[in-house]
Amino acid sequence: MGVWLVNELRMYDAVVVGAGILGLATAYHMKRLRPEDNIVVLERLAGPGMGNTSKSAGMFRSFFYSKTNLTLADTSIEFYRHVHEELKHDLGIKWTGYLWLYDEETYRRAEPVLKDMASRGVKYTDFTGEEVAQRMGQRRELSGDVEAKVMGLANVDYGVLVPKAGAIDVDALAKFYANSFVGMGGEIRYKTAVKRLVLEPRTSMGLPGEPYFWQEGRVVGVETEDGRVIRARKTVVAAGVWSIRLLDQVGVDGHFKPKKRQLFSVRAETEELRRLLYTKDLNPEGCMPFLILPRPRVYIKPVLEENAFWLSYADEFGRPFQLEDEPKAEENYYRYGIYPIVTKYLPQFEGRMPYASWAGLYAINTLDGQPVIFEENNLLVVGGASGSGIMKADAIGRIAASLYVGEEQAELYGGVRFRVSDLGMEKRRVEPEKLVI
Ligand SMILES: Cc1cc2nc3c(=O)[nH]c(=O)nc-3n(C[C@H](O)[C@H](O)[C@H](O)COP(=O)(O)OP(=O)(O)OC[C@H]3O[C@@H](n4cnc5c(N)ncnc54)[C@H](O)[C@@H]3O)c2cc1C
Repeated sequence: MGVWLVNELRMYDAVVVGAGILGLATAYHMKRLRPEDNIVVLERLAGPGMGNTSKSAGMFRSFFYSKTNLTLADTSIEFYRHVHEELKHDLGIKWTGYLWLYDEETYRRAEPVLKDMASRGVKYTDFTGEEVAQRMGQRRELSGDVEAKVMGLANVDYGVLVPKAGAIDVDALAKFYANSFVGMGGEIRYKTAVKRLVLEPRTSMGLPGEPYFWQEGRVVGVETEDGRVIRARKTVVAAGVWSIRLLDQVGVDGHFKPKKRQLFSVRAETEELRRLLYTKDLNPEGCMPFLILPRPRVYIKPVLEENAFWLSYADEFGRPFQLEDEPKAEENYYRYGIYPIVTKYLPQFEGRMPYASWAGLYAINTLDGQPVIFEENNLLVVGGASGSGIMKADAIGRIAASLYVGEEQAELYGGVRFRVSDLGMEKRRVEPEKLVI
């Protein structure tokens, strides 16, 4: 077997497009299952995880109602814990927990689902709004505030603290997969952009413009921007939101769309903000948990190493589906979007503007918000992680690798079995998420 470049004579067993967290986790598990296979990862940027993976907030939680969500996230988190604690690869894991704030009405609606989850062993702690306010100094009562009313803000009546949740260093995670893959004999070529997928008929007749519809076409590799053809038995497209460009050309629907998401970093420069950042007794890190406000669900991540908070909100209606190479954060999104809301709940943020901001794109599966893993004519598609690709990457990589080796069941970390076709398109079977948060 070898690859056929313009001048090389070598055919790979697999070419993986994209060294983001999904491409890397997939390549790593493919190599683990088939150590003898020649697998190459092609990445247009200069290093691992420099696309949307690097834009991520890097948060994870093992807290979902849907069995699909919970299995993908929980087994991945357990694997990251194993790498961090037992294999001693520092993944920068911080068990900050997630703290959701609720008003009375939304809490009552979520309560049966939460109770159901508790009966299945998913752990969380309830707080009253007062208890949270005492610890974090946030405002509880907003109903009398005219501006808050106009913005549709809600009182803080309850808090739900989830302990099996926190932050991970995404750069360290991407490097772990990249280095482990290369350590097993895998190859990664950076600064190598793929221009198109190469299609050929199973039996060539030497016709111009082959393959024709009666010829059983299949993907036989890729052509890079500099005109080389890299041939492979299987081609895996894991190029994040940009997969769409490659797939559209060959008429394959990835079933996901790009949407911009923005993060704003605000330094804890004042005494009040430092006190908030180092909120005590809610987690083993001695800091504020990852905090999600009641309405709208603005989230705030504590970032101790930067002495800062990262703030964001995932807007839907009005935010276009738009594919961009370098999406930019919008100053006004913070100034008129996030800031007035956050300062109502947490007056500590008054007068505070971000010192840094960036934006990336979610690859949103608009059908059910779950990843997509399927194969068509020797082309494997891995994507659509819909904003939770970091926390589910290991499971996604294992399922994609099982598809590659032709197994019906994937073995996730900890020996959990998962039917590969459940994330495919033909026999897709995902459990909807009932926990609306
Ligand atoms: C602001 C923001 C916050 C987020 N927060 C979280 C979070 O807290 N927790 C969580 O779990 N998830 C989060 N996510 C989602 C998570 O980052 C993604 O699900 C995940 O990174 C997707 O990984 P990927 O490998 O599919 O995509 P990417 O990381 O984008 O990787 C795709 C790679 O393919 C390369 N590529 C593209 N086209 C080509 C080509 N033609 N040739 C060669 N290479 C190519 C790109 O350069 C890129 O490196 C967040 C995302 C954003 C934008």
